[in-house]
Amino acid sequence: MPETDFWARLASALPCIRSQAAARDQGAQYPDDELRSLVAAGLFAATLPISYGGLGFGMPGQSAEMARLFYQLGHASLPVARLYEAHVNALHLIFQYGSPAQQQRTAEDTLAGEVFALWVTDPPKGEALRLEDDHLQGAKAFCSGAGRATRALLTAETPEGIRMLVVPTNAARHIPSGLALSGMRAAITGEMAFSGIPAGPETWLGAPGDYLKEPVFSGGAWRGSAAALGGLGALLGLVRDELRGRGRDAAPQQRARFGQIAMAHEAARLWVAQAGEKACGLREPSADIVAYVNLARIAVEQLCMDALQATQRALGLSAFMAGAEAERIGRDLAAYLRQPAIDEVLDIAAAHYFATPLPGEFT
Ligand SMILES: Cc1cc2nc3c(=O)[nH]c(=O)nc-3n(C[C@H](O)[C@H](O)[C@H](O)COP(=O)(O)OP(=O)(O)OC[C@H]3O[C@@H](n4cnc5c(N)ncnc54)[C@H](O)[C@@H]3O)c2cc1C
Repeated sequence: MPETDFWARLASALPCIRSQAAARDQGAQYPDDELRSLVAAGLFAATLPISYGGLGFGMPGQSAEMARLFYQLGHASLPVARLYEAHVNALHLIFQYGSPAQQQRTAEDTLAGEVFALWVTDPPKGEALRLEDDHLQGAKAFCSGAGRATRALLTAETPEGIRMLVVPTNAARHIPSGLALSGMRAAITGEMAFSGIPAGPETWLGAPGDYLKEPVFSGGAWRGSAAALGGLGALLGLVRDELRGRGRDAAPQQRARFGQIAMAHEAARLWVAQAGEKACGLREPSADIVAYVNLARIAVEQLCMDALQATQRALGLSAFMAGAEAERIGRDLAAYLRQPAIDEVLDIAAAHYFATPLPGEFT
């Protein structure tokens, strides 16, 4: 499919995603129809290499397209963007570490509409998922698309180290839980049990230890930042519209708040563009890429949180009305920003820049 057709098809799928977002949030419903429309638009194959029938988004030189795609999805619905990001992440790892047969199968599955999940978080209490005698034992926590994604890339402990596997999800069990996230409800983030499921060598991806190899492990975080930026863009638009609509856009304090949100949006956009370029380009030493993307991740998180606070101050209680768009998007964004180990990530980046100048720093 030519790229221009792709953007046109995406543009025609977005209004439905946006208009369904409130109902999906309210019912904590998986966005089945929306994902189907994106599969039909060719979106789930966009990240496949061109030689496998995709558009090669996210490959070297194509980070801008990937950033644009995540921005637009995050703007329309952060849960849909999150589900899509997991799919892209899984495909990225399979095309990084998979055998030719695994890559071929993944491309065929993707073109046939299978949705991949990436379930790598072990339950906070209890044992990590492990591989024993070619069978899985244990569960994964915080699984987006739990019970709905049709393929999953998992990490499991083995005596040789942590190994990635790709399995169909039909034999796994969604564990019901009384606990639910307050935001990102439509991403259906739950616990999945895998005990007893066969996982022979044909399901193994790469070698033990590959999952944590840099710069791929940390570098991929830029995609989540790009999706979060889309959510920030949605808030920016809502503040603009609501302040204008209520005749409050001439108040200097409100203009200052709007200006703060606009600055946050632009700063985050620049971080995301640079981080994407570095993570996809792979032209620099691994440690430089990792430090930069880590810094970008924390910067975007902080900028989004600042913008969220300014939004709540600008709109007042209307940003807290159940059912209001700003309330839902704020809730989704706040939850989505909770990504692992922020202290450690900032620490690693800061340590790097103690020893190495920042890009553009003149010494
Ligand atoms: C909407 C959503 C969807 C998700 N979907 C998936 C999915 O599909 N698959 C998946 O695998 N995961 C998923 N996750 C989970 C995600 O990958 C992270 O595991 C999770 O978001 C971690 O969040 P946390 O804030 O609890 O992190 P934590 O890392 O626990 O951080 C919380 C705080 O504790 C600090 N901290 C961390 N470690 C330590 C320590 N050892 N000592 C002291 N302080 C510490 C951190 O710096 C931070 O300040 C999802 C998460 C969200 C929000």
